[in-house]
Amino acid sequence: LLGYIGIDTIIQQMRKKTMKVGFDFNIMIVGHSGLGKSTLVNTLFKSQVSRRSSGWTCERIPKTVEIKSVSHVIEEGGVKMKLTVIDTPGFGDQINNENCWEPVSKYISEQYEKFLKEEMNIARKKRIPDTRIHCCLYFISPTGHSLRQLDVEFMKRLSSVVNLVPVIAKSDTLTPEEKNEFKQRVRKELETSGIEFYPQKEFDEDIEDKNENNKIREAMPFAVVGSDKEYQVNNKRVLGRKTPWGVVEVENPNHCEFAQLRDFLIRSHLQDLKEVTHNIYYETYRAKRLNDNGG
Ligand code: GDP
Ligand code: MG
Repeated sequence: LLGYIGIDTIIQQMRKKTMKVGFDFNIMIVGHSGLGKSTLVNTLFKSQVSRRSSGWTCERIPKTVEIKSVSHVIEEGGVKMKLTVIDTPGFGDQINNENCWEPVSKYISEQYEKFLKEEMNIARKKRIPDTRIHCCLYFISPTGHSLRQLDVEFMKRLSSVVNLVPVIAKSDTLTPEEKNEFKQRVRKELETSGIEFYPQKEFDEDIEDKNENNKIREAMPFAVVGSDKEYQVNNKRVLGRKTPWGVVEVENPNHCEFAQLRDFLIRSHLQDLKEVTHNIYYETYRAKRLNDNGG
């Protein structure tokens, strides 16, 4: 009856729209001080992510909280992404670490609140700038033993308000055997403590999702190494850390899992991280806020 309608051009239409407006993607980094968080922010931007990035801004958010963000606009095939990494000050130095998650948790809520305010404006912006945290990387100390009570406590709180991705910091300090054992132990401890990290099983939409995410869940927490220094290896300049045994190459998947983590966040799961943030965490915040207000 009908000829070609052109429904299949929807992808091109969406692409065109996205190209016009671009999108935001925000990663937050949290953990004990000295675990290499600030270094990893630089690693991320110095690694392949940003080889072609342009126009970068660095803004300081109020000093008292000392939460600092770095943004780059990355453009590929005409699509612009504003990638922001939020670096938080390390904790754990004080004798009393009670409530040390408060500034982090407050920052996350504030971004939901900002978005909510914009949504409720009578003159709503066509595109609301998105500062919500799409993913929170939690740095675990490479002790080889077990998680600290503080880590458990912190992650429990985070996992209820944001996509939580635990990572093992400074993994070059562990042997491959120690690393694998530690990963297993951490996964077990997270499970025992009832901490669910991203990608959560309950959000797998079909069998394909499930199979792909199972593989990722089994590889987590990714064991990373960070560096902002480059070395010459086989006539190529690589990001790495010099050790007495040679250079640990940060972006070499045989040396550590930094590249895997980066591809997981910025390539394969970016859209899903944004959707879960909007549909689950933001929605929970929004419903609660509107309920509280309604009395
Ligand atoms: P932050 O307090 O978590 O922000 O930690 P920094 O990024 O300031 O790093 C603390 C120290 O650890 C610095 O001397 C870094 O050079 C070092 N460091 C950072 N990342 C790594 C890593 O992956 N492996 C090792 N061995 N050292 C690291
Ligand atoms: Mg730091």
